[in-house]
Amino acid sequence: LAADYLIIGGGVIGCATALELSRRGARVSILERGELGRESSWAGGGILFPLLPWDYKPSVTALVMHSLGLYGDWIAALQADTGINPQYVVSGMLVLPEFDGARAAKWCAAHGVELQRVKAASLLDSPRGEEALWLPGVAQVRNPRLMQALRLCLVGRGVKLVEYAEVQAFETRKDMVAAVTTSRGKFSADGFVIAAGAWSSQVLGGMARGLPIVPIRGQMLLYRVDPGTLGQIVLKNGIYLIPRMDGHILVGSTLEESGFDKGTTAGAHDQLRGAASEILPALKNLKPIMHWAGLRPGSPDNIPVIDRHPGFSNLYLNAGQFRYGVTMAPASAQLLANLIDGRTQPIDPSPYGFPAG
Ligand SMILES: Cc1cc2nc3c(=O)[nH]c(=O)nc-3n(C[C@H](O)[C@H](O)[C@H](O)COP(=O)(O)OP(=O)(O)OC[C@H]3O[C@@H](n4cnc5c(N)ncnc54)[C@H](O)[C@@H]3O)c2cc1C
Repeated sequence: LAADYLIIGGGVIGCATALELSRRGARVSILERGELGRESSWAGGGILFPLLPWDYKPSVTALVMHSLGLYGDWIAALQADTGINPQYVVSGMLVLPEFDGARAAKWCAAHGVELQRVKAASLLDSPRGEEALWLPGVAQVRNPRLMQALRLCLVGRGVKLVEYAEVQAFETRKDMVAAVTTSRGKFSADGFVIAAGAWSSQVLGGMARGLPIVPIRGQMLLYRVDPGTLGQIVLKNGIYLIPRMDGHILVGSTLEESGFDKGTTAGAHDQLRGAASEILPALKNLKPIMHWAGLRPGSPDNIPVIDRHPGFSNLYLNAGQFRYGVTMAPASAQLLANLIDGRTQPIDPSPYGFPAG
């Protein structure tokens, strides 16, 4: 790819896309309004799997499963290039009731995902007698470290990171984008990729053509416990606990329509805290050490847009991965780079097209 590409937005999707294009020989720059990787991609949990994958459409499954097939090598290459360990750990996920066991079993069998019916108490240090679902192959990464590794890897490859550069307007000529105006001046390129997460429709402004990407806030709590207190991810009624290797436990999350407000609320704090102590009684007398919120790039049915803009031949989108952007990043980057490059796609890309009308 002997061309220049400008990526707008430096979250996991923008960085993964920049990396993929750079590996294919393109000269790439990222324009980021703040600091690289400090929005949703920092705030998220880093579970590499949908929470209840059997509840989603086949196009979500296809992208997720393709991405998971790429993940191990993607992380290994990042770690080899940078020396940073993003803590990719196969910790498994335990799903406590309520769930549709028959549906889960059918989905897992169809997609080659290991599933066991277990007693919750066999894995969780609690007096629970209830039946649970155990997905031993589910992995996680530690978001801030993944973003640090991506940053270092991009810099090492000569990708230009332009931070504190907010894209404000597009300069177009016929059906092409010629340049973008930012708070740090004007930048031109051969091609442009919008990867601005929850802000993608806002960045496009009058060129958004009804792009249905909206911010959906998620609040998280962080606890500190003795390492080993919890061995696996646990999910119950939409609330999850994610144990990190060093004894931190993340608890998430809410799904809130609150515009671009990243504030936290006492209500969500209490709700998450109550649910967390119910799942893991060891948390009952502990206070969370941090509470934050991030804005997910919400999209209908969690289906992202990975496509060329219908009105501009050198403008592309990679946005709307919603609850699973960390999971979907390697595949989303590959699909977009294949589209730009004219390569055959590994999965049917049509579900991720720019929505008509
Ligand atoms: C609480 C929470 C928990 C989550 N848990 C998980 C999980 O367990 N697993 C999983 O796979 N996913 C999870 N997610 C979702 C995942 O974090 C997102 O899907 C993913 O981070 C989206 O990446 P992104 O690069 O599209 O967006 P972002 O990381 O938000 O990046 C977009 C970037 O664009 C920049 N930008 C915006 N406007 C402009 C502009 N005008 N000019 C220049 N730059 C601009 C922003 O500053 C930002 O850095 C979670 C999200 C949240 C909030």
